[in-house]
Amino acid sequence: MNQELQNELKGKLEEIKKSLENELSAFATKGKDGNDWETRFPHEENCDDIECETDEVEEYENLLPVEHALELRLKDVNSALERISNNSYGVCENCHNEIEKERLEILPETRTCNNCKI
Ligand SMILES: [Zn+2]
Repeated sequence: MNQELQNELKGKLEEIKKSLENELSAFATKGKDGNDWETRFPHEENCDDIECETDEVEEYENLLPVEHALELRLKDVNSALERISNNSYGVCENCHNEIEKERLEILPETRTCNNCKI
């Protein structure tokens, strides 16, 4: 892969990372190891009846899958950035061919080429 394209994709990955972290930090807390995020239980100061508490539990349960999906994407983005720094970026994990440029531009964190995509 040429250096120019790699730099461009690295910039994209860093932007995605920033926006994922922003989204996550709105309702989740970053764990001590710096990788895992935990959804915060929403708790309103003035929430003291059962109806309001039920709403909070529901809100929390709705957030969990959102948090999970964002966290998974963030992990993929981080590992793509790692692959850039050890020069193994842009190679399909499955067939070891170079991943198509068009595919990387749409999904810079991808691990597989168009033939092997899951
Ligand atoms: Zn492949």
